[in-house]
Amino acid sequence: MENASNRPNKALIIGCGIAGPATALFLKRAGIDSVIYEADEQIDDYAGLFLNLARNGLQVLKELGLDEQIRQEGIELHTMKMLNGKGKLLGHVGQTSGEPQGYTIKRGILHKVLREEALRQGISIEYGKKLKGIERNEPDRVKVSFEDGTVVSGDMLIGCDGIHSRVRRIVMPSAPAPSYTGLISFGGFLHSNTIPYERGIQTMVFGKRAFFGYLVRNSKEVYWFGNMNYPGQPSRRELQSIPQAEWLRTINGLYANDIAPLPEIVRSTKEEIGVFPIYDMPPIPVWHDKSVVLLGDAVHATSPNAGQGVSLALEDAIVLARCIRDIPDVQLAFSEFQKFRRDRVERIVQYSRRIGQRKHATNPVQVFFRDLMLPLFLKSANKDSHGWMYDYKVDWSEKAAL
Ligand SMILES: Cc1cc2nc3c(=O)[nH]c(=O)nc-3n(C[C@H](O)[C@H](O)[C@H](O)COP(=O)(O)OP(=O)(O)OC[C@H]3O[C@@H](n4cnc5c(N)ncnc54)[C@H](O)[C@@H]3O)c2cc1C
Repeated sequence: MENASNRPNKALIIGCGIAGPATALFLKRAGIDSVIYEADEQIDDYAGLFLNLARNGLQVLKELGLDEQIRQEGIELHTMKMLNGKGKLLGHVGQTSGEPQGYTIKRGILHKVLREEALRQGISIEYGKKLKGIERNEPDRVKVSFEDGTVVSGDMLIGCDGIHSRVRRIVMPSAPAPSYTGLISFGGFLHSNTIPYERGIQTMVFGKRAFFGYLVRNSKEVYWFGNMNYPGQPSRRELQSIPQAEWLRTINGLYANDIAPLPEIVRSTKEEIGVFPIYDMPPIPVWHDKSVVLLGDAVHATSPNAGQGVSLALEDAIVLARCIRDIPDVQLAFSEFQKFRRDRVERIVQYSRRIGQRKHATNPVQVFFRDLMLPLFLKSANKDSHGWMYDYKVDWSEKAAL
C-alpha cells in the first residue's frame, strides 16, 4: 500500500474498455480502490475486430505484467509495406530488425487480458451501468446515477467512457464534440491457404477506390480492414443496421478491380464484417473539473490511422495513477496529469489525422501527387523510425512532479 491516509480512497471509473481497467489496476497499486461501471450489459469478446497495439502501449502492459499474453496471442508487427493501386511499392514504415513496432491483436483478447487481471486483483466491474447523471454538491465528493436507477458516490470520478463520453458532455458541456473524418472502417477475418504469410509485415494498399490493409498469421488466418469515404455523420448503430449482404456487395465492388489478393480476401470472407465510423477529437482545453477527470478517447480520441489510441489510453492510465499517488490534492493531481500528457497526445492526434487525409485521395490528380510524395514522406519518417512515438516510456517508480 503506497497510499497515505489523507488521500482520496475511492474512485468511480466509468467505462471498462482500455483506459478504465488499466487505470483501476494502477490505482490499486497506489493503494486506491476503484469500481468500474460499464454500460454494456454483457461482455462481448468477439466485437471490435483487431487493432495494432504499439510498442509504447505494450510497455505499459509490461509494467502491469500483462505483455506476455499479448506477445503470445498477437501477431508481431515490424513493418507496414505500402503499395499503390497498381502494386508499386511506395515504401515501408518501420524496421525489419530490432524490437517490433507492436503487435496486432484481436480487440477482445486485449479486453479480456485487462478485465481478468482487474477481477483477479479484486477490482469490481459492474455491467449494465450506463451513466446518466453526475452531482457534485460537496467539493471532494462525487455522486453518480445510472440509467437503471442506482446511485453511487466516491472521492473522484474518472471518465473512461470513450469518444462519445457522457462524462465529458455532462461536466464540460461546451467542450468541442468529436468530428467525423469522412471515412468508415470495415474488416474481418478468414482462413486461407493461398495468401502468403510474411512474418512481421502488414501490407497496406491504396486501392483504386479505397484503402486496404491485411496481414496473415502463421496459422493462415488473415486479418483485413479497409477504409472508404462515407457521407454524413454515421453512428456505429446506423452502419450496423445496414444488412451484411449489402456491405458485402459494396465492399466486393470497391476492391473487385484491385491487385491480388484484395478481391480474393473480400470474396472469401464468410464471417461477419464489422463496420465503424471514424471520428477524432479537436483538442479539449481542460481535461478535468473539480473531482472529475477524463482520459483516453473520452478526452483525446485519435483516428485509428496511426494505431495509437489504445496505447495513449494505457499511457494515460499509468500517468494519472502516478499523479494521484504522489500529489495529495486531487485537483492538482489532475492538472499535473493534463500538463504531462497534453503535448504528446496532441502531436499523435495530428500525425494520425495527416495519415488519414492520404486515404481520401480518389481522383487521378490527388492519386498522382500522393504516389509522388508518399515515398519521400515515408523515407523521412523512417529516419527516426518514429522513435518519439514508439520508444516513449513512463517509469512508475518515478515521482510525479509538481
Ligand atoms: C475502427 C477502429 C480501429 C481502431 N484501431 C486501432 C488500432 O489499430 N490501434 C489503436 O491503438 N487504436 C485503435 N483504435 C482506437 C481505440 O479503439 C481507442 O483509442 C481505444 O479503445 C480507447 O480506449 P478507451 O478506454 O479510452 O475507450 P473505449 O475503448 O471506447 O472504452 C469506453 C468504454 O466505456 C463504455 N461506455 C460508454 N459510455 C458509457 C456510459 N454512459 N456509461 C458507462 N460506460 C460507458 C463503453 O461501452 C466502453 O466499454 C481504433 C478505433 C476504431 C473505431
